[in-house]
Amino acid sequence: MTVCLTGLRIWDGDEYVDADALTIDGGRIGAIGDAAELAQNAQTIHCAGATLIPGLMDAHVHLELNPEHSAAPTGTSDDAYERMAERALGMVRAGITTARDLGGGAWHELRLRDDIARGARVGPRLICAGQPITCVGGHCHFWGGEAATLTEAKAVLHRQLDHDVDLIKVMATGGRMTRGSDPRKPQFSTDTLREIVATAHAHQRPVAAHCHGTPGIEAAALAGVDTIEHCSWVGEAGWASDYQAPIAELILERGIWVSPTVNRGWQRMLDSATGTVLGRVRSAYRKMLDLGIPFVASTDAGIPGVFHADLPHALVVFARIAELSNASALRCATSDAARALGIEGKTGRLRPGLAADLLLLDGDPLTDLAAVTRPVGVWARGRPVILPN
Ligand SMILES: [Zn+2]
Repeated sequence: MTVCLTGLRIWDGDEYVDADALTIDGGRIGAIGDAAELAQNAQTIHCAGATLIPGLMDAHVHLELNPEHSAAPTGTSDDAYERMAERALGMVRAGITTARDLGGGAWHELRLRDDIARGARVGPRLICAGQPITCVGGHCHFWGGEAATLTEAKAVLHRQLDHDVDLIKVMATGGRMTRGSDPRKPQFSTDTLREIVATAHAHQRPVAAHCHGTPGIEAAALAGVDTIEHCSWVGEAGWASDYQAPIAELILERGIWVSPTVNRGWQRMLDSATGTVLGRVRSAYRKMLDLGIPFVASTDAGIPGVFHADLPHALVVFARIAELSNASALRCATSDAARALGIEGKTGRLRPGLAADLLLLDGDPLTDLAAVTRPVGVWARGRPVILPN
């Protein structure tokens, strides 16, 4: 049965559309147009002037991590899959209809991805990396992806392919969550990263690289990764203290996306009296954006204090830190996100034939971005998750 949503204001991922109705046919968007025409022979849901936008995407989450735990995980529990399924349900109820999982240790997220895809569970479309490749004792080594040599790195990579991952994640620098790991320092040589990227690409898998320190950002850019996670420009003087224009030019030339993992807790940066770090981070983002480097919205959900369903709140903070227009911020989480993740042929915009990944909002996010935090309706691949009253 065709479902017709009427009484809509529609923003399609790029712009407002001159239409007030959209039909859902199975899992896909059927048509966008006039309610008078489309509502015939359809089950009608009147949406009373609410705004319909594409479902949101978070390009960096860890379903396996419990954000209430402050320490790195020591192993997975028996109920890990169920906990992850609960987190996924919370995400889709918040309007997040696609999420890219950038690391776990036990591949539970891959089972969840497949269960959601076949309709056995309700959650976002998942794109999963499995175990990240890291150096011995390196960032997130506890997930099992340690490699001392290129040969070992390729073995880790092939183990992920055996588990049918969608992409490869590599830790190009250290991180904060892992004791003994230094965010400033690179974990692999440029040549090793290049080989990892070439191997992943030969298997049609993109590569996401975790990069805090500037030398690691440079190595990842030279190696031709597909997305740079965090891109923190960490130097001797701290976060965002070592932005280097030639490396940013390289990121642009290579067509690499930046996934800045801004979570809602970054509000404290906006509230800080001194604003020192805010000034540096804002300046680095502005320079990259002015250059034309594309950004994708992401939160690193699962790390301590960063909850899985928080992307809508994080998007508001990200827009303020990066001084983005509401439309630009929304594109980072919808149409641009789909391009960054290589799924623009499936979702990310409201177009006939694309997946019916829909978020209905109380208010207009183009004038008040915080409206994204007030979902009144959500459909994931046509399946109703929240229905308007
Ligand atoms: Zn992460």
